[in-house]
Amino acid sequence: MVKTLQIRLSLEEEAQEGQLKHRAAKYLGLDQKEFKLKVLRKSIDARKPKIVFNYKLAAFVGEDLPALDYNFDYKDVTKAKPVHIIGFGPAGMWAALRCLELGFKPVVYERGKDVRERRRDLKAINQEHIVNEDSNYCFGEGGAGTYSDGKLYTRSLKRGDVKRIFQSLVHHGATEEILIDAHPHIGTNKLPKIVKNIRETIIRQGGEVHFNVKLTDLIIDGKNLRSIVLNNSEEIQTERVLLATGHSARDVFYLLDKKKIALQAKSFAMGVRVEHPQHIIDSIQYHCGENRNELLPAAAYSLVHQVKGRGVYSFCMCPGGFIVPAATAPGEVVVNGMSPSKRNNLFANSGIVVEIDVERDIRKYEQFGNLKGLEFQKDLERLAFTSGGRSQKAPSQRLTDFVEGRISANLNPTSYQPGLESAPLHSLLPKLIGSRLRKGFEEFGKKMKGYYTSEANIVGVESRTSSPVTIPRNEKLEHPDIAGLFPCGEGGGYAGGIVSAAMDGERCAEAAVLGL
Ligand SMILES: Cc1cc2nc3c(=O)[nH]c(=O)nc-3n(C[C@H](O)[C@H](O)[C@H](O)COP(=O)(O)OP(=O)(O)OC[C@H]3O[C@@H](n4cnc5c(N)ncnc54)[C@H](O)[C@@H]3O)c2cc1C
Repeated sequence: MVKTLQIRLSLEEEAQEGQLKHRAAKYLGLDQKEFKLKVLRKSIDARKPKIVFNYKLAAFVGEDLPALDYNFDYKDVTKAKPVHIIGFGPAGMWAALRCLELGFKPVVYERGKDVRERRRDLKAINQEHIVNEDSNYCFGEGGAGTYSDGKLYTRSLKRGDVKRIFQSLVHHGATEEILIDAHPHIGTNKLPKIVKNIRETIIRQGGEVHFNVKLTDLIIDGKNLRSIVLNNSEEIQTERVLLATGHSARDVFYLLDKKKIALQAKSFAMGVRVEHPQHIIDSIQYHCGENRNELLPAAAYSLVHQVKGRGVYSFCMCPGGFIVPAATAPGEVVVNGMSPSKRNNLFANSGIVVEIDVERDIRKYEQFGNLKGLEFQKDLERLAFTSGGRSQKAPSQRLTDFVEGRISANLNPTSYQPGLESAPLHSLLPKLIGSRLRKGFEEFGKKMKGYYTSEANIVGVESRTSSPVTIPRNEKLEHPDIAGLFPCGEGGGYAGGIVSAAMDGERCAEAAVLGL
């Protein structure tokens, strides 16, 4: 017999070993030996000064604990029909895994390097300010998801089976905690191993993963995709291609546009990253002094406010994390955030971004047609490069100076390795972003007392929140003009994070193998 129950533990009870089982036994009226306990969900309620841990539990009375719900049946696909996948980010990885389950051979081409080799290029960006256009925080094995924060939160619950994605992450080395946490998080130190394990599964089952191979052209015969060109040299005939190249592969958008393959401009968001000392966020969220209780994780926040008809909101908040240089080409500065699994760094950073309506907000860019959002994004990244001093140093200002319109005489310490340069972002950012951010920060200061402080820096620019372009697809998930081409994941505009990209990869794989 299985009984579900909810138990709330205070901080003091949480600290005592065996409390959960003790309380469950009391609730069930059973001896502790008579049942086994499985945690289904764990969350922390810190809205009131008395912090509470909420548990949803299943008690297995006289039964063994069940195994994981999913049994991944990866077939031997050595001799199976191929499905070509461009890009080995979450969308490409889960598309490849799904191909294995469906009995088709995934053949993956990834422009970047494997996770180990990729590390050197990240070091070069951080320490020597050198950006490799094929290997960086966005490109390489695991895509933008590898050296990321690894938050697994998604709102796309209707778009696929989130639980399946989580269980396959556990199958490939993630801890089972992600199955129960209300805000699951893997951490950048653990992601590379998981990504490598996924690659090994694909290769072991007869699939292929090729690194340093870039899609450079698509050969189209009437309305059918005939072949793909790799590294400007090799042509491969193909019936099915999943285009999972992410939102930073601008050369892919230019290629499609040049070939007159339909694209659509899409609204997105841009702004800055704000960085506070973590203890300030902890003291606001946990109503504590400088030191939070050791049972509590570094505190997070989520903020939103409407300013002059556009949303200003926090994006990819990283407690105990780092700001990282996420540029994909020389001559641009782009910031993003990540954190290690323990979230034990001294800083809390978050993107604070403004919605950009591509139809109404950037009329100046009309000449670029469907790539207008992309060109606007590029201009802002160039602005960050020049105002940061023409390196990977990022332009920055104390939060209060930004809002009050002053240049910062000096800046706060930061986690951003390439370094910061004081710059008048209040006057440099386009008004549609800058003025809304300034108002937004004032409002956030009212919602979280202590948030609006000179001890925080803002760092520019947070420009890659989502794709500025949609690649259309029909009900078969195929491009409406080109049979055999399946736009997939975040680059096509069909995902906004690791989990939603993975789910979209699975769906595209299922669609692509139909009729093969
Ligand atoms: C620093 C950082 C932190 C993040 N933190 C989180 C987080 O905590 N949680 C979350 O959900 N999301 C996070 N994200 C976003 C998340 O990583 C993306 O939403 C997700 O990776 C998108 O998956 P994708 O497979 O669609 O595209 P990508 O991950 O962008 O993968 C695309 C892949 O295609 C390859 N590629 C591009 N062009 C070509 C070509 N021409 N030929 C061959 N290969 C090509 C690229 O090298 C890349 O590997 C973060 C992103 C960054 C940069």
